[in-house]
Amino acid sequence: NQQIILKQRPSGTPNTDTFEWTKTPISAVQEGQLLVKTLYLSVDPYMRGRMSDRKSYVPSYELGKPIEGGVVGEVLESQSPDFHKGDFVLGGYGWQTYATVSAKTVRRIDPTLAPLSTALGILGMTGLTAYFGLLDIGRPQAGETVVISGAAGAVGMVVGQIAKIKGAHVVGIAGSTKKIDYLINELGFDSAISYKGDIPLHKALATACPHGVDVYFDNVGGEISDAVLRRLNKGARVPLCGQISSYNLEKPDIGVRPQTFLLINSALMQGFIVSDFAKRFPEGIKELAQWVNSKQLKSQETIIDGFDQTVNAFLGLFTGDNLGKQLVKVADP
Ligand code: NDP
Repeated sequence: NQQIILKQRPSGTPNTDTFEWTKTPISAVQEGQLLVKTLYLSVDPYMRGRMSDRKSYVPSYELGKPIEGGVVGEVLESQSPDFHKGDFVLGGYGWQTYATVSAKTVRRIDPTLAPLSTALGILGMTGLTAYFGLLDIGRPQAGETVVISGAAGAVGMVVGQIAKIKGAHVVGIAGSTKKIDYLINELGFDSAISYKGDIPLHKALATACPHGVDVYFDNVGGEISDAVLRRLNKGARVPLCGQISSYNLEKPDIGVRPQTFLLINSALMQGFIVSDFAKRFPEGIKELAQWVNSKQLKSQETIIDGFDQTVNAFLGLFTGDNLGKQLVKVADP
């Protein structure tokens, strides 16, 4: 069994010294356990936070242990009445090629409903983050302007498409012309802005949002958010989903303090963690799956082949290598 363990806590951007590749024997399957072979594993920005020794909503990763995270796997052996050899499951055991796990820690996936990989993306954690963050906190109304940062990523892409379904005027912000073209031409965003382009972001926003911003779904924070928050309308809602621009900073960057823009517009900014909505996941998955099946919602993934590419795939999240959900394909069923 190959594993990628946390060797040392990164300061700033993680690099190959942060991780170590190890091989361990596969432990025997006890009563109530399963042996699972990893097919796809997920790399996610939140993992950066867990590599630090900082208090957060989930515990830090332990040094010397495999990086935990979402995995789709195939059951090779079962000592549980609830699972059989050949079942496909969603687990959280992370960056390893095989794992012996308690059957209670995994959920069965039906491979006939949608491709297996979607359980880690559009019909999984990132899709649900978009769904509940936008609909419960952002509450977009038809005709309102919804701006999304990190718009060409796993969460952002789903947010924009749902906002279109709800009849909003949708503006995405992302880091390359390729991503901008994709958002407009493939996903039907009304407008998209590259924050790395020649036009200053505040000017591009003024053009793209002539009626101001009613919902700002924030995945990145930093200067991008400073620019968007200045354009909020009265009664705007700001679901605070992520702050990826700050995850690798050693010192906080202090920008425009946004409180004034919230105050003068009676706006609401609300942080959330997708697990806040755990009881309602079945409702979210059902509606997301309906939209996917009726082709109202596109699932876009960037899949890198090979377990040895896992760290590269993870680091690529911070340089914008991915379009949509970044996954690693480890093995075929
Ligand atoms: P993405 O698929 O969006 O991948 C990350 C993207 O972030 C990159 O492709 C890159 O796109 C962009 N990015 C990286 N660095 C910066 C930077 N310095 N400034 C601006 N953009 C940057 O990841 P996810 O969709 O999985 O996650 C998006 C956000 O949502 C993250 O902040 C994550 O932590 C958060 N999140 C929160 C959850 C919650 O429960 N609250 C659950 C899941 C995710 P580009 O080329 O456009 O720069």
